Amino acid sequence: MGTSNSVAVVTGSARGIGQGIAQRLGADGHHVIVADLPSMQDGVNETVAAIEKAGGKATGAEVDVTDEESLSRLVEVAVDAGGKLDVFVANAGIAQVEPLIDYSKADFEKIVDVNLTGVFLSYRAAAKQMIEQGNGGKIIGAASIVAFRPFALLSPYSATKWAVRGLTQGAAMEWAKHGITVNAYGPGIVGTAMWDLIDEKLAAEEGLAKGEAIKKYAGDILMGRVSVPEDVANLLSFLASEDSDYITGQTMLVDGGMQFS
Ligand code: NAD
Repeated sequence: MGTSNSVAVVTGSARGIGQGIAQRLGADGHHVIVADLPSMQDGVNETVAAIEKAGGKATGAEVDVTDEESLSRLVEVAVDAGGKLDVFVANAGIAQVEPLIDYSKADFEKIVDVNLTGVFLSYRAAAKQMIEQGNGGKIIGAASIVAFRPFALLSPYSATKWAVRGLTQGAAMEWAKHGITVNAYGPGIVGTAMWDLIDEKLAAEEGLAKGEAIKKYAGDILMGRVSVPEDVANLLSFLASEDSDYITGQTMLVDGGMQFS
């Protein structure tokens, strides 16, 4: 496959971890399809501009990962831009901090819709195209440290990320015969807009000062710091490359050792 004429889609790449992944894949030589919600197109343009400024190739696109047709159109954008689809990163996700006892059914369904159904629909849309092409591919989904250990007030979010681990294993089994690897990544705490929201809500719920929720719930991260999108992007660079061809069905933590804190 090689990265020099590879086409890679990254959902939720207008900001945060997705933006970091898109920039790294662009620097690695993939033609990156930078996709996010219609309301996030300023961020999409920013990501595209950053990739192009660094000498890479990128195309902006709209997608809502909860919508099958929107995902089909996104795959078409990739094929129109680069003739094929080689890598699909199902990164888009949302978080909500709420005691389980207060969690509404509507909110539970919403988080499942984006974080789990959205990953399922992304995996399926990507695999259909890759199987038709007959040349393998790399499908990669967003899990989390909370797919391995609990974290306060994030139970429904955590449930979706555990489910992504299971979905990733099943998809890997079914699509290996097509040369497609399916893996997921599990960041720890990454200083993005999502984490700011979690931190703020946790602090408010628990009467803690901003930043203290990390200490209380994350413990001492072994590597001594919260992570940045580039830490996750380093793993994605590998998972999107031929170097990871013999790895499938895995959810790999990139958490600075938070699993053991
Ligand atoms: P973020 O909120 O900064 O970015 C998420 C992006 O996803 C946004 O650009 C948003 O517009 C997009 N998005 C949301 N719903 C969408 C939809 N229906 N269709 C298309 N795009 C949609 O979050 P982040 O911190 O960059 O997180 C990225 C991924 O990593 C998420 O799946 C998240 O659950 C996971 N994660 C984050 C952390 C963390 O500490 N930040 C830790 C573990 C896992």
